[in-house]
This record gives sequence, C-alpha cells and structure tokens, in this order.
Amino acid sequence: MSAKVILLVEDEPLLRKLVQHTFRNSDYEVLEALDGEEAVALAKREKPDLILMDIQLPKISGYEATRRIKELPGLGAIPIIALTGFTLLAEEGKARDVGCEEFISKPFQPDFLLETVRRFLERPASTD
Ligand code: MN
Repeated sequence: MSAKVILLVEDEPLLRKLVQHTFRNSDYEVLEALDGEEAVALAKREKPDLILMDIQLPKISGYEATRRIKELPGLGAIPIIALTGFTLLAEEGKARDVGCEEFISKPFQPDFLLETVRRFLERPASTD
C-alpha cells in the first residue's frame, strides 16, 4: 500500500518545518504549496488524500483555494482542514461554509494535529 499524501498549504517556513517534523515518523508523505494558487494546481495534479490549508496566504486566500478545489471534478471529497491564527468562531463558520471539514487554530499542539489528520485518513474509504 502506498503512503497517503497530505498537501500542506502554508506560507510560513517555520510552520512548514513544524508540520513536516510532526509527520516525520508517520506513514504520510507531506507535499508543500506556498500560496493559494499553487494549492489549487497541486491538488489538481497530485490528488492528495488530505489537505492542510492555511487561510492567510499570498495570491488567493485559503478560503478561496478551498472553494476552487472543492469545485474541481473528483476532488470534492478530499478532506480539507483549515489552519488559522484566527480563533474567532466566525472564522470557523467561514471555513466550514467554503467546505473545510475541520478547523484548527494556531498555535496547535503537534500531537493534536497528528490525531486530527489520522481521524480522517484512517477511517474506512467512502463509497461515493
Ligand atoms: Mn499564512
């Protein structure tokens, strides 16, 4: 069985490093996109198993990138977890409105991130 692929969309180098470190001993491969447009292009090309989406990004926001990815044929079922420094409840609502399945506020505990990702990736495959 090949490794599951996570697409990490994050413009902060330190956060990319932290996330890579978090998954270093996991079975998951972490690809990186540095802005919203790259996120859409890589999602289309690589069809990752899950996407970790920063919201404040260069070019287009994580909300807009999520909206576009969810509209692409065959990509709508990829779970997208929003990662944001905003902790307002309104932001979580916005993330869910554009189609994010989950919302994690920064700063987050690496273990919590790992558990949340596992919850999505280790569940039985959906039939649709
Ligand atoms: Mn950012």
